[in-house]
Amino acid sequence: MHDAPPDRPVSLDLGEDFAEIRDSVRRICAAFDGGYWRDLEAREGYPTEFVTALTEAGYLAALIPEAYGGAGLPLRAASAILEEIHASGCNAAACHAQMYIMGTLLRHGSDAQKAHYLPQIASGALRLQAFGVTEPTTGSDTTRLKTRAVRDGDHYVVNGQKVWTSRALHSDLMLLLARTTPHEQVKRKTEGLSVFLVDMREARGHGMEIRPLRAMINHNSTEVFFDNLRIPAQALIGEEGKGFRYILDGMNAERVLVASEALGDARWFLKKAAAYATERVVFDRPIGQNQGVQFPIARAYAETEAADLMIRKAAALFQAGQPSGDAANMAKMLASEAAWHAAEACLQTHGGFGYAREYDVERKWRETRLMQIAPISTNMILAYIGEHILKMPRSY
Ligand SMILES: Cc1cc2nc3c(=O)[nH]c(=O)nc-3n(C[C@H](O)[C@H](O)[C@H](O)COP(=O)(O)OP(=O)(O)OC[C@H]3O[C@@H](n4cnc5c(N)ncnc54)[C@H](O)[C@@H]3O)c2cc1C
Repeated sequence: MHDAPPDRPVSLDLGEDFAEIRDSVRRICAAFDGGYWRDLEAREGYPTEFVTALTEAGYLAALIPEAYGGAGLPLRAASAILEEIHASGCNAAACHAQMYIMGTLLRHGSDAQKAHYLPQIASGALRLQAFGVTEPTTGSDTTRLKTRAVRDGDHYVVNGQKVWTSRALHSDLMLLLARTTPHEQVKRKTEGLSVFLVDMREARGHGMEIRPLRAMINHNSTEVFFDNLRIPAQALIGEEGKGFRYILDGMNAERVLVASEALGDARWFLKKAAAYATERVVFDRPIGQNQGVQFPIARAYAETEAADLMIRKAAALFQAGQPSGDAANMAKMLASEAAWHAAEACLQTHGGFGYAREYDVERKWRETRLMQIAPISTNMILAYIGEHILKMPRSY
């Protein structure tokens, strides 16, 4: 099993780390109550005011180095920010992608690309919120994706389709994964994929079409179609054909951040469930006095605390530059499941009122269910654990 080598110890902070940041995030979130999110959902809107408040406070640039106008904070700080946003009843899905997509640009972009884009992303002048990986016909089998980018002089010509591209209508830039060498011509299926930073302001209407995709939750989902879109060759990030590796590099950070959001959701559900179980009196006693009501909440609490530890472990390993894939994957799975169990307990505890929109429980319940599917589904994580950690045969 590959975990931290014993000669490079990694320590965990078990208390409320980044307390000042957490406190400040809570204060920002207090201005965006359930009514704000319910209203947005009713009109399928984008939380512009919320994203602006986070941007102005510098939190969306937490991971951008100071040299490029960001805060230069460690991954664990970003994890704490996202946890607090979700624990406050808000939803960071509108803007979280920027935190981890940006890493691909930071690690593999040219000096010119970084100097041009990162300061503008840090200031909020440009939004990098769209990440085009998933395609309708290939799904989790990412290396089989069909979108092609073919070099033509100083340009690449892009053809294909993406699906579930969140926020494409609210982002200036998109990180796009496309095949530059056909699948049949590469030795390994992970080769021949490339990453591009597409300026959607120029692309829309010139070979890129974006259509909203109505979904169970207000996630600003879209389908993106490419029909002979010409993008400048300078849009390529790093080397042609190495894109899959670049994307994978960022995935451990992404797993930790999404897990942190799930953890925040779990905390929101638990607080809400425990309070209602204590206040609501039926048969002349608080419903929480019944073990059938109390125990699912208590069990979800224990799962949440365990997920918290795994998130801290993954973030600490990542920060120490040690292999963090095992912990990051497990953190994502455990946190998404803890959140779901907390959501179920909370909805059940609320009885019929769990269905009343004004309680926000049903909305959060729908929102947190996504964490077991995107950005990677639980089965794919189990397959990773089976194959890479337990050394069982590859299952797909
Ligand atoms: C609201 C929302 C927002 C999203 N945002 C983005 C985004 O911004 N950018 C982006 O690129 N994508 C995005 N996605 C896509 C998301 O990452 C995919 O839906 C997810 O990775 C699963 O892929 P799929 O839907 O094609 O499922 P499939 O790959 O078709 O899988 C369907 C089911 O079968 C299971 N399965 C498949 N193969 C196996 C196997 N070999 N063994 C066991 N089980 C298997 C999966 O676990 C899953 O449960 C989003 C999705 C949603 C719903």
